[in-house]
Amino acid sequence: MSVARARRIVLGGPPAVGKSTVGAALAASLGWQFIDLDRALEAAHGRAISTWFAESGEASFRAAERAMLDSLLSGTERVIAVGGGALTDTAWRHTVLTRARVFGLSAPLPTLVSRAAREGHRPLVSDDPARQLAALLSAREEGYAEVDATVENSGSVASAAAALAGLNDALGDSLVVPLGRRSYPISFGPAASFASHLARGGGPSRRVGLVVTDTTVAVAQARALDALCRAWGAESLRLEAGEAHKQLAALGPVWSTLLRLGVDRQGLVAALGGGVVSDMVGLAAALYLRGIDYVSVPTTLLAMADAAVGGKTAVDLAEGKNLIGAFHHPRAVCVDVDTLDTLSAGEYRAGLAEVLKVGVVVDPGLLDFCEAHAAALAVAPRAAGWAEARALRVEVIRGAIAAKIAVVAADEREAGLRAVLNFGHTLGHAVEQASGYALRHGEAVGFGMRAALDLGVRLGITPAELRQRVVGTLRAMRLGASPGVDYDLAWKALFHDKKRDSQGLRFVLAEAPGRARLRHVDAPEVADVFRAALENG
Ligand code: NAD
Repeated sequence: MSVARARRIVLGGPPAVGKSTVGAALAASLGWQFIDLDRALEAAHGRAISTWFAESGEASFRAAERAMLDSLLSGTERVIAVGGGALTDTAWRHTVLTRARVFGLSAPLPTLVSRAAREGHRPLVSDDPARQLAALLSAREEGYAEVDATVENSGSVASAAAALAGLNDALGDSLVVPLGRRSYPISFGPAASFASHLARGGGPSRRVGLVVTDTTVAVAQARALDALCRAWGAESLRLEAGEAHKQLAALGPVWSTLLRLGVDRQGLVAALGGGVVSDMVGLAAALYLRGIDYVSVPTTLLAMADAAVGGKTAVDLAEGKNLIGAFHHPRAVCVDVDTLDTLSAGEYRAGLAEVLKVGVVVDPGLLDFCEAHAAALAVAPRAAGWAEARALRVEVIRGAIAAKIAVVAADEREAGLRAVLNFGHTLGHAVEQASGYALRHGEAVGFGMRAALDLGVRLGITPAELRQRVVGTLRAMRLGASPGVDYDLAWKALFHDKKRDSQGLRFVLAEAPGRARLRHVDAPEVADVFRAALENG
């Protein structure tokens, strides 16, 4: 759960783009150390990179390059300019993004070609620089886009360095979801100030036509709504609050308002609210004019830690939840933890279940953190101790988002790994449905997690000690208790769940802290555990 990355900058981009000169100027302006990774490697290994490539091949060089960057990333207040191929490996690039702010430099191809010619021999672009550079840019396009921001270096070195320093400041503690050219930032702090940054051109600079919220948030967060509308020069629209209104028909007014405002395919729409609003606005944006961009401003803990990140959007049908939807990622997510101040205690605690879930199945550090601070994290909005626990909340929310980013980056469309985020959801959805949706989603997931741990222990997959730890943490968060719904109703609901396939019931079972696996379980074994969990409080 290490997400403090803003105090070190990695500067990447194609060969000859000017990383060394701009990086040195940026470090000087910040008062930080500057390291040119290629020069440091040459010095440490006593041979020129071109000789290295010729004698030992690219793979040997990349291994040494990675080892050195890995050790340099343990220090802070340093700008590290890396070679054009240093971050081409996807998994390694994503790791670097979790440990440092990564900026890219770009320049038009003719500029790169003339700089490369001026500067002499470079591996990979020495024979026919124009052709080789064009091929490199095209092959690495998606990777070069997976950065916090890119600045064009076609003017003066000083102006590029100043632009990067300004971005580093404006981006604050933000994280990035790396998805090639669809990568997007997650900012922390008042949404309106990040909105101004976006509106100034630091990201999707197009006009936001509309901020969509719900009737409750419009009142509880009237100031945030007003500030956002002013920052973007946008109108606002209120949807009816609550899951019952998460219907396709409710999107009609969103679309007609966007049309009335003349929002075209370059326009943006923003969602201010919980998971219901972000799911609905995301779907409205996915379908309007065959797809426009949207910005998500989550105002519940559940939406911050889960719903707003990852691009799943949906509305419900009478037959079940989230049955009509699309994968459509936002262009930016603005997390302002202070919007939680007006949330109800029940909604807040329900969100904690999803935070803990990510710790159990993805990030053992996050699980440790939740366990160590469960009581302070469980303090409800406006109750005694709420203000004092703010820093813990910020840390745990950033940790949960960082863990979810790692999963989404590795498996965007839930072909495999992402399914572990459904931990606690199979039995959770069943009790949620059996309660007629009187139970909050997160409350149901808290119970579902407890029952899934019981099932895992029974099947010899979940260590008893892990179950103890998570159940204890749930209890300290006042989660996980039996919701007291009728067993027969819940059992019936289980067979409507999307997580059932032709082989039977599919469960996510915890194997170790931060690790889970999918498994089919025979109905009778599930029935025993489910009944016991429901009946034993
Ligand atoms: P929600 O959006 O209904 O919000 C809960 C309630 O709190 C609502 O009444 C809302 O008006 C109110 N509220 C929101 N923010 C507030 C604030 N700051 N102050 C006061 N009141 C506030 O519910 P939710 O729990 O945020 O989200 C649940 C939804 O998210 C479900 O529909 C679920 O399917 C979806 N979800 C989606 C994903 C995803 O990946 N897309 C993941 C998890 C959940």
